Amino acid sequence: MKINKEWHLNHKMPKNANREERVKWHIEHHKNCSCRPIPEKILELITQLNGK
Ligand SMILES: [Zn+2]
Repeated sequence: MKINKEWHLNHKMPKNANREERVKWHIEHHKNCSCRPIPEKILELITQLNGK
């Protein structure tokens, strides 16, 4: 597990992030950092958003 500290410092999750913001954050996070996997809830949301 590697943490990309710099990315985290520059990409803080907004306090009142809505679903889409959280999804976007996790997608970007996954591309840039591997400190933790995408939560299942978020994966579900991604599937839902893509299924539109
Ligand atoms: Zn991370």
